[in-house]
Amino acid sequence: MTGQPMNGRALARELNIALKQTVAGLAHTPGLAVVLVGEDPASQVYVRRKGVVAERLGIHHQQINLEADVSMDTLLGTIDRLNDDPSVDGILVQLPLPKHLDANVVTDRIRADKDADGLHPLNVGQLGQGRPGLIPCTPHGVMLLLERTGVALEGLHAVVLGRSNIVGRPMAMLLEQANCTVTVCHSRTKGVEDIVRSADVVVVAIGRPESVRGDWIKPGAVVVDVGINRLPDGRLVGDVAFDEAMEHAGWVTPVPGGVGPMTIAMLMRNTVQASQIRHG
Ligand code: NAP
Repeated sequence: MTGQPMNGRALARELNIALKQTVAGLAHTPGLAVVLVGEDPASQVYVRRKGVVAERLGIHHQQINLEADVSMDTLLGTIDRLNDDPSVDGILVQLPLPKHLDANVVTDRIRADKDADGLHPLNVGQLGQGRPGLIPCTPHGVMLLLERTGVALEGLHAVVLGRSNIVGRPMAMLLEQANCTVTVCHSRTKGVEDIVRSADVVVVAIGRPESVRGDWIKPGAVVVDVGINRLPDGRLVGDVAFDEAMEHAGWVTPVPGGVGPMTIAMLMRNTVQASQIRHG
C-alpha cells in the first residue's frame, strides 16, 4: 500500500471548531432551515446530521418535513415563507426530490442570498465568472481538503467523473480556477479508464459503487471519492475501489470520513457567510 487516506472528518472538525467561535462572536444568531420532502432513508440521515452539526456550532436550525406527494405550490409556498423569515439566513432543500417536483424550479425560488447549497443560478453564474458568492458545498469542501493535503494544483491534469449541477460541474469550475487543466467525463464518454490514467487528480462523483479500479490510477495521483453507495450487505462504499486505489495513489479520500463531513462543514460556513452578509 503506497497511498495515504485524506482525513476529511478531522479537517471538518477543525473547521467547525473555528466556525463555532465565529458564531459565538456574532450579534445575530445564524439560522439554517432544511426542507425534507418524503422519507428517503439516506436523505433522512443526511438531514439529521446537518441539524446535529448546526446545533453544535450554535447555528439555529429548523427542519421542515413535507409529505412525498406534496404539491409544487405547497413546496414553493414553504420556500417563500423561509425567504421572508428574517431569522433564516440559509435555506436548503434536500435533493433528490420526488419525480413530480422539478428541482430547478425549487432551486430558482430560494433567495440567492439565502442559498446555503450554492445551487441558485445566480451563485452558479458568479462561480463561473470567478466572482464571490455562495459556493456549492461538496466541491468547495473538496477544494479545501486538497489545499490542506498540500496538493499544488497549478498545471495538474484534473479529471472529474460526473457532470451533475451539485458536484461535477462546479467541481470542474473550481479546479480550472485553481489553474488545473480539467477534463470532465460523463456516462457517454469513451475511454474513461485511459482518461483517468492520465490524471494527476481525479474526482469521482458518479454514484456507481467501487467502479473506478486501482489499475486506472496513475502512480502517486490524488483520488477524491465523492460517491456514497449503500451495498446490499449494508456496507457504505464510494465510487472508487478504495483498497485498490491505495495501492497506486498518493492520496485517497475514504468513504465514509472523506468528502461527506466536508460537505456539511461547508454548508455551515455558507450559512454563516450568508448571515454575515445579510446582517452587515
Ligand atoms: P448524479 O446527479 O446522478 O450524476 C452522476 C453523474 O455521473 C452524471 O453526470 C453521469 O453522466 C455520470 N456518470 C454515470 N455513470 C458514469 C460512468 N460510468 N462514467 C462516467 N460518468 C458517469 O449524481 P450526483 O448528485 O453528482 O452524486 C454522485 C455521487 O456522489 C452519488 O453517490 C451521491 O450520493 C454522492 N454525493 C455525495 C456527496 C457528499 O457529500 N459526499 C454530496 C453529493 C453527492 P450523465 O450526465 O451523462 O448522466
